[in-house]
Amino acid sequence: MGCRERTRGAIDIPGYRPSGVYNAGAAQRLSNMEGYMVGKEVVIYGSGDIGLIMARRMTLEGAKVKAVVEVNPHSSGLTRNIVQCLNDFNIPLMLSTGISYIHGKQRVEGVTLSKLDENRRPIEGTEEFIKCDSVLLSVGLIPENELSVEAGVKLDIKTSGPIVNNSMITNIDGVFACGNVVHVHDLVDFVTKESRIAGKNAALYSLNKLIQNDTVSTIANDGISYIVPQNIDTKCEEDINLFMRVRAIYKNKKLVVRSNDKVILEKKRLHMIPSEMENIKISKDLFKDITGNITVSVEEV
Ligand SMILES: Cc1cc2nc3c(=O)[nH]c(=O)nc-3n(C[C@H](O)[C@H](O)[C@H](O)COP(=O)(O)OP(=O)(O)OC[C@H]3O[C@@H](n4cnc5c(N)ncnc54)[C@H](O)[C@@H]3O)c2cc1C
Repeated sequence: MGCRERTRGAIDIPGYRPSGVYNAGAAQRLSNMEGYMVGKEVVIYGSGDIGLIMARRMTLEGAKVKAVVEVNPHSSGLTRNIVQCLNDFNIPLMLSTGISYIHGKQRVEGVTLSKLDENRRPIEGTEEFIKCDSVLLSVGLIPENELSVEAGVKLDIKTSGPIVNNSMITNIDGVFACGNVVHVHDLVDFVTKESRIAGKNAALYSLNKLIQNDTVSTIANDGISYIVPQNIDTKCEEDINLFMRVRAIYKNKKLVVRSNDKVILEKKRLHMIPSEMENIKISKDLFKDITGNITVSVEEV
């Protein structure tokens, strides 16, 4: 079922409710599919990939993107998109900054920005008014799991998506999940990969050919916020990819995979950021070393 976008109501921006405030997805639809300009002077809230891509799109359509505003001290988009969508078009990225007011009654007339402290509270005296006629919101995606919950599918509190094993089956027999409903992906290509695994295993299941053995859990340790799949079957006959996100920006560290305190795999990484998914392949010849739950952590090289 994919994700839905977080809306203005969910992030409580003070101000009136003028026209000109769009979720990035709605702006994409109006601009890319229906051929309408959503505004001429735009401020984008959120520097995730969709926000960055829309900054470039709006610029190419002839609008002036005044700023991309981000509450975190770092962008939540891919480095590639920061370079190609912002830097190449001289669009300012304002980090640790929030929109504290949307001005305008009928139509957006501008926004007040404030610098934020480390607890994301506005710092008095840092307010800055920026004139604009549109605000595009790209403030996060939420896995769409109403249907899963109704079906009794267990969700992972960290991903807000179903708990799956390496065949992408959930705790409910015959229910498989893949893509953004499981966890928010950075690239659609990984969604495609995951969907092929789920599709193949759902087909095997329907033919009564899906072998389901006991599984071990994958546990996110120091520096890792979550791992998908959450369970893996070490008797399976294929390599397994673990997808995860790190908690902070790390330079020159390694990802260490352990089972029962024994190191199974180490991967050096020059640069890791929370917005880019990390992927570790555990080849099937390593399964013999897996004697219990698998942990992954970020460690010094
Ligand atoms: C605004 C926006 C812009 C994006 N731009 C890019 C981009 O430029 N490049 C990129 O690589 N990725 C982009 N992404 C990410 C990309 O869209 C996703 O990674 C990908 O579409 C996820 O695929 P999915 O199949 O998991 O979910 P989706 O493509 O979202 O598909 C989910 C489907 O499930 C349906 N559905 C939901 N609930 C139910 C229900 N209860 N019953 C029946 N059907 C239901 C939905 O209608 C939808 O058709 C963007 C995402 C968003 C939200």
